[in-house]
Amino acid sequence: MAIAPTTHAAAIPSLDRVLREPALAATIDRYGRDEATHALRIELARLREAALAQTLAPASLAIEAIAARIDDALAERHAPRLRAVFNLTGTVVHTNLGRSLLPEAAIDAVARVMRAPVNLEFDLDRGTRGDRDDAVVELVRELTGAEDATVVNNNAAAVLLVLAALSRGRETVVSRGELVEIGGSFRIPDVMRNAGAKLVEVGTTNRTHRADYENAIGERTAVLMKVHASNYAITGFTTNVPLAEIAEVAHARNLVAIEDLGSGSLVDLSRFGLGAEPTVRGAIAAGADLVTFSGDKLLGGPQAGIIAGRADLVARIKKHPLRRALRPDKLTLAALEAVLALYRDPERLAERLPSLRQLSRDEASIRAQAERLQPVLAQAFGRRYETATAAMASQVGSGALPVDRLPSHGIAVRGAGLAKLEAALRALPRPVIGRVADKTLWLDLRCLDESDEAAFVAQLSSFEPPPSR
Ligand SMILES: *Cc1c(COP(=O)(O)O)cnc(C)c1O
Repeated sequence: MAIAPTTHAAAIPSLDRVLREPALAATIDRYGRDEATHALRIELARLREAALAQTLAPASLAIEAIAARIDDALAERHAPRLRAVFNLTGTVVHTNLGRSLLPEAAIDAVARVMRAPVNLEFDLDRGTRGDRDDAVVELVRELTGAEDATVVNNNAAAVLLVLAALSRGRETVVSRGELVEIGGSFRIPDVMRNAGAKLVEVGTTNRTHRADYENAIGERTAVLMKVHASNYAITGFTTNVPLAEIAEVAHARNLVAIEDLGSGSLVDLSRFGLGAEPTVRGAIAAGADLVTFSGDKLLGGPQAGIIAGRADLVARIKKHPLRRALRPDKLTLAALEAVLALYRDPERLAERLPSLRQLSRDEASIRAQAERLQPVLAQAFGRRYETATAAMASQVGSGALPVDRLPSHGIAVRGAGLAKLEAALRALPRPVIGRVADKTLWLDLRCLDESDEAAFVAQLSSFEPPPSR
């Protein structure tokens, strides 16, 4: 094998000279002089090292070659870290992938409030200071039957704030079957401790009775709380006390009943072919004084936590100092307002709200898509891998309807070196995220919108499967 001729360090051009080269002008224009200089310094140091090691090829000193390497390095450095991906995991509301996709109406609303000053805390009727909750309170009232509401950053913040405001230094009673960890280490007992509320556990993991709540009430009790079990289900020999009864017990002793609904649907999801998830309206009607729920789970909006319920309690919560630390910004409120407004027309909700559209997607259309895409993937992945259409079971995600599975379809990929294929798909310009289990890469197509299919196929046309070995 011939050894490539190497070049002496003296042949490496100076920083100033390269910076003046027309070949670098476009790069400087794109990224700025400081960035180009910084990248060039690194490149020249690399060339000097290669010269010392006697591995410097003369061709790598061509100005065009240097300019191209600098441009590549800067392109990589400047590529956004937060990138759009294809979610083929089969989990629709995927916390690690940003949960709900927002509808166009919300995207427009967010763009609008980013571009111009808005009446975020300005009452346009009176010309006086306003309240940022005003953007959504009327809608929340309408959609839930609650008297009043306030919005914070996420539902974890909502629970924290409610307990800090109503139960600091006092006791909150919760069933042992509801002391859940939601994921991302949100544990109800920890949140309580951080809110300064003392947790009083009642009942057992599988059974809690009305009398357990009644017997737990003492001088220091402030709140009876029900927590949606979210990501797990207790089945078999179980009893839990319905919210209506907990509320009855609470009200008989002048206490407050709150429910952390977690996902908190605003509509009966069975009309979209999904399982029954408790609604916020249902919880309010059953007697909850306050309900907390997420904006970006089943609701399909931005990350937010909504506290809805009795006006006097909401007023107390809004006065708590933590509220200022937990308040949402104008982008969140604009998106939330636009999403809530869509709920005024439930008939068209599944068309307009992306998460609901994906959750209620017709199985036949997913199957047809799998049949269309199977040959495309077989071609892209090469003969080393075996690809086949397969029935799959998607899940809602984010703790909603934890045991429900949505019949779906996708592509199952098998073959040696599956981990490498999975990694190569993650390295695509728009990474494709699937799920590896049982020596198979499962690509569930439920969340591949048909409008995105062309882009999905296009980037696969130049896909290079990982080399064998
Ligand atoms: C998801 C969830 C939370 C946390 O909500 P975030 O919006 O993720 O902060 C709290 N409680 C329950 C019951 C949940 O399901």
